[in-house]
Amino acid sequence: MSVLVVGSVALDSVETPFGKADEVLGGSGIFFSASASHLTRVQLVGVVGSDYPVDQLAPLAQRGVDLTGVERAEGESFRWRGRYRHDLNSAETLETRLGVFSHFRPKIPEQFRRAPYVFLANIDPRLQLDVLRQVERPKLVACDTMNFWIESRRSDLMELLGHVDALLLNDGEARQLTEQSNLVKAARWIIDRGPRIVIIKKGEHGAFMFTSNSVFFAPAYPLEDVFDPTGAGDAFAGGFMGYLARTGKLDEEHMRRAVVYGSTMGSFAVEQFSIDRLMTIDHETVRARLGEFRRLVAFEEELPA
Ligand code: AMP
Repeated sequence: MSVLVVGSVALDSVETPFGKADEVLGGSGIFFSASASHLTRVQLVGVVGSDYPVDQLAPLAQRGVDLTGVERAEGESFRWRGRYRHDLNSAETLETRLGVFSHFRPKIPEQFRRAPYVFLANIDPRLQLDVLRQVERPKLVACDTMNFWIESRRSDLMELLGHVDALLLNDGEARQLTEQSNLVKAARWIIDRGPRIVIIKKGEHGAFMFTSNSVFFAPAYPLEDVFDPTGAGDAFAGGFMGYLARTGKLDEEHMRRAVVYGSTMGSFAVEQFSIDRLMTIDHETVRARLGEFRRLVAFEEELPA
């Protein structure tokens, strides 16, 4: 089954302690698509400006990402500039230039409107709500957000929470949104406002999945070299949604596995700039890392005599 994603299609400029990248492919929709396309077909909706290097999207199309919904508008593309210092868990936004994004109204192509899995990647919550008005009763709707929108569009975000099944966000965002410092309380606060699944990502410290009656935790893969954390969250979401769409199941067991797929895909995203690593890994590489995840957490339960 396919996944519909609506998100940013950006040009990112990133500085990390290990190097710099200028105007490379980025955006929540792009990272999600590069990741989820390892598991299922993806339908991407977004907007680019007249200056976007659209030819660089061809490899995504070859991987089964349907780009029919990527609109080309007159003007400048969305640009994000960020920096990571030694704490690679948090990006410092140096500049956000909305460009064509500021007038963007997502138009979901007719053939995408019945997508069973919908991911509202990090964009203006008003646009996320607009997308939900155009799709026909999906099996699962998940969404992401960030500090930028929590600060500037809080009431729209609160409205959105009432219409989604799952919210994925990082620990800082969860604390900012809920004003709760304890993450268990933060998750409960969110569940009380709509989503039945809350995934709180903690960067290199792994990710929690909360429902009203369960908690699951998956570690992050302990990489020796994290090169550029940009897009880890979207790649995580791509692994999570991609796995659920591939299997068509939404029970607890599949949800848990989906979190591990999310963690696995996130770990690849950070190994190189942009979507470079996500575009070169193959099925075997993904499987091998999943196996390593299993060994990472496997232990025998044994009570001392
Ligand atoms: P993350 O997975 O959180 O690291 O997402 C990184 C991506 O989010 C980058 O590729 C940026 O282009 C994109 N991004 C940054 N700020 C925004 C924003 N305000 N709205 C939508 N996308 C954004």
